[in-house]
Amino acid sequence: MLIGIPKEIKNHEYRIGMTPAGVRELIENGHEVIVQRDGGTSIGLTNNQYEAAGAKLIDTPEEIFAAADMIIKVKEPQPNECKMLRPGQLLFTYLHLAPDPAQTKLLVESDCVAVAYETVTDAHRGLPLLAPMSEVAGRMAIQAGAHALEKAQGGLGVLLGGVPGVAPAKVTVIGGGVVGINAARMAMGLGADVTIVDRSLPRLKELDAQYGPQLKTLYSNAESVEQEVVNSDLVIGAVLIPGAAAPKLVTRAMLSKMKNGSVLVDVAIDQGGCFETSHATTHQEPTYEVDGVIHYCVANMPGGVARTSTFALTNATLPFALALANKGYRQALQDDPHLRNGLNVHRGRVTYEAVARDLGYDF
Ligand code: NAD
Repeated sequence: MLIGIPKEIKNHEYRIGMTPAGVRELIENGHEVIVQRDGGTSIGLTNNQYEAAGAKLIDTPEEIFAAADMIIKVKEPQPNECKMLRPGQLLFTYLHLAPDPAQTKLLVESDCVAVAYETVTDAHRGLPLLAPMSEVAGRMAIQAGAHALEKAQGGLGVLLGGVPGVAPAKVTVIGGGVVGINAARMAMGLGADVTIVDRSLPRLKELDAQYGPQLKTLYSNAESVEQEVVNSDLVIGAVLIPGAAAPKLVTRAMLSKMKNGSVLVDVAIDQGGCFETSHATTHQEPTYEVDGVIHYCVANMPGGVARTSTFALTNATLPFALALANKGYRQALQDDPHLRNGLNVHRGRVTYEAVARDLGYDF
């Protein structure tokens, strides 16, 4: 199969659909790979590395879309990319179609076969191609929070781990899923005093068994959230109710009881945020202040560490990309119901129930 990897064109998107190591594996499996020149240069993945892996460098996206059997990307195709897709061409990338009727229409009209990363499932009821970005965002949340706690950033002037003779900072993580545990691990690693609040008792039991007394666990309700938040230096919002907006667990009234210069990092901002006072920010201007409390609410945190995110994404997508390329999409989807769950658009039809329902397509 001829596999094409164009340069990402969405604003401030520096990731690329496949690392040179991923390209090498595809080629070792008997496929040909074409990569857009300078597609990974800004994150240190050079043209030479892609060529050494066996890829052929191509100057324009038009040539890639015209030639490839499968396009591997990161972000949803932009309108001019959708228009370059060919009937029957396989597209493997993040799509997030439900809130995007314009893109859905273009994909339907293109007659392509679109498999979305975000709806591929695994045997543990997880989303294996979303998880790596949650891991990145969770770990980054502590880095961002620690920075925001510095005095020059408007923070309280607290070091997460303290020093001998000085108590560490108190960190509360609301939501103990993929983002939450990755944040907690980073905070524990820095020596902070860490509590995870979750409303799933089985999850709290699992975390307790795994991490022991170093990680405090607390059942989530309005009372426990308030008590923890007002006593914390850093609070991470990491809740998810699948398919719904994030619940507003931290109210504006709670902010006035917090210390001036304490920090809220709302990772759940892409689902609307779990703090009442959250609004989405960018990497260029990541923080703002409400009632003396610093808010960090960057909606695409993994984009800030695009190199790490690209490697993490390729690790997760490559086995599926190989299955699609080695078997052809029909056989690959037939063999693997989890990969089949990724199929969102097939030859002019929306094939993912929730998207079809939300956007009014026949299913
Ligand atoms: P997850 O499903 O793995 O975990 C969510 C956790 O929240 C679960 O353990 C669940 O029990 C818990 N929860 C639900 N309601 C709760 C409540 N009322 N109180 C306490 N806990 C509650 O999800 P995840 O992968 O960790 O993602 C968390 C959020 O981070 C999502 O909104 C996701 O979209 C977002 N995210 C944002 C970025 C970013 O760049 N900002 C990147 C990745 C993920």
